[in-house]
Amino acid sequence: MSNVDSLDTIVSLAKSRGFIFQSSEIYGGLSAVYDYGPLGVELKRNIRNAWWKDMTQRHENIVGVDAAVFMHPKVWEASGHVGGFNDPMIDDKQSKKRYRADMLIEEYILQLEKDGKKEKADEIQKLLVTSGTRKSLTEDLYDIIIENEIKAPDSGAFDWTEVRQFNLMFKTAFGATSSEDDGVYLRPETAQGIFVNYKNILDTCRVSVPFGVAQTGKAFRNEVVARQFVFRMREFEQMEMQYFVEPGTDSNAYTTWKKKRLSWHKSIGIREENLRFSDHSKDKLAHYALAAVDVQYKFPIGWQEVEGIHNRSDFDLTQHQKFSGKKLDYFDQKNNKRYVPYVIETSIGLDRCTLMVLCDAYRKEEVNGEKRTVLKIHPELAPIQVGVFPLVKKPGLQELARKIEAELIEDYAVRYDETGSIGKRYRRLDEAGTPFCITVDFDTIETDNKVTIRHRDDMSQQRIPVDRVAYAIKEGMEDWKPS
Ligand code: ATP
Repeated sequence: MSNVDSLDTIVSLAKSRGFIFQSSEIYGGLSAVYDYGPLGVELKRNIRNAWWKDMTQRHENIVGVDAAVFMHPKVWEASGHVGGFNDPMIDDKQSKKRYRADMLIEEYILQLEKDGKKEKADEIQKLLVTSGTRKSLTEDLYDIIIENEIKAPDSGAFDWTEVRQFNLMFKTAFGATSSEDDGVYLRPETAQGIFVNYKNILDTCRVSVPFGVAQTGKAFRNEVVARQFVFRMREFEQMEMQYFVEPGTDSNAYTTWKKKRLSWHKSIGIREENLRFSDHSKDKLAHYALAAVDVQYKFPIGWQEVEGIHNRSDFDLTQHQKFSGKKLDYFDQKNNKRYVPYVIETSIGLDRCTLMVLCDAYRKEEVNGEKRTVLKIHPELAPIQVGVFPLVKKPGLQELARKIEAELIEDYAVRYDETGSIGKRYRRLDEAGTPFCITVDFDTIETDNKVTIRHRDDMSQQRIPVDRVAYAIKEGMEDWKPS
């Protein structure tokens, strides 16, 4: 179970502890755009590093690229984004609020189910998945909304515009003399940067099929529904890997990557019961996909996609061959055959993943009559991994605490803190998700040369010799399990 009853809990913790802020807040904020504060940037970087390490360091046949955000406009024609990267939207004339027509209907179906009207819910669900087969997609969605008198969630009005398609790509002027016609798009996904570099990588990096290319980077989508914190943003970061395989071996590779990706989510500490696969039924497959599955997490807003795993067939390379006029096939020397590889894609949103980590780690607990908020983040991902405290501000204690800090700082993110009571310092670092705290006290310097190590998750404390501190932390990191 998620320990968070509402997304607002995470939003306010994220803000008060310096994980995530609204963009341009002093000017009233910019909708669906967020900035990461000091703790957030560390957490996000650690998640990115964990993903990168898993992809590139642990797979000798996966290499990385870092493609630019701007790409030739033809890329987006070839990929299908210019023609097809649309969301159907509808406006409430009274509140002037805009909604995604399909999501409005999905919410209505959920409500019907909650109200025990299963038959009606099924009937509308059927109409929804076959939208586009009666008239056009927009007309079919409009008809469902009107015939069922679906009201605007915010105003309660039933006063809709037509449903229109809304392209999600941002376009911008490019170069000093540019006009609207030769503008470029901000990339809506990082994947295309991999496809257009496929030939460069083949020609220069001694890779052979099967091989993968990994990339992390910003993507931009002018999302219509954008009120779900970092779950749905207009500027976000993706971590994508495209795995090039011989046609015919794609199904196996798809199954393997499904397994690998689910275990990665567990390896970063996400509890198994909060993760599941959601297979896309045939009627919901994207235009490029032969098979697709989502890794979903049980967010406070319900089960939602964190990652997509897709069998993209040879769609992208074939399209780029067609639009660029360049050959993008592969020559298999060993078997003396030529083919355009199929692609298995794993695509995860870094911000959504960060939100998942925060939701899964969040606990509000009462221990021995004391309340605390704690983030039980995987120690490897924690923005601050070790707190080092002198019990009081006394030179002998401060000196030794600083010495321990200096020893640990090369391997861990350490925070020295000497202000407030020890209890307060523990609470502060519990909320930051710090797994270990080391306290130097008078016994340390006067009698036993031992310090107290306090564990975040169960609040247990032990005395350990000063020269065992680094070892105890290493051991604690390795032995950690989600609880
Ligand atoms: P959704 O159905 O939620 O809009 P999608 O199917 O369009 O997502 P993909 O195009 O498969 O998403 O992108 C891969 C991943 O990128 C998603 O699983 C998600 O984690 C992330 N992602 C996509 N859109 C956004 C967004 N607007 N804000 C944050 N992350 C996003």
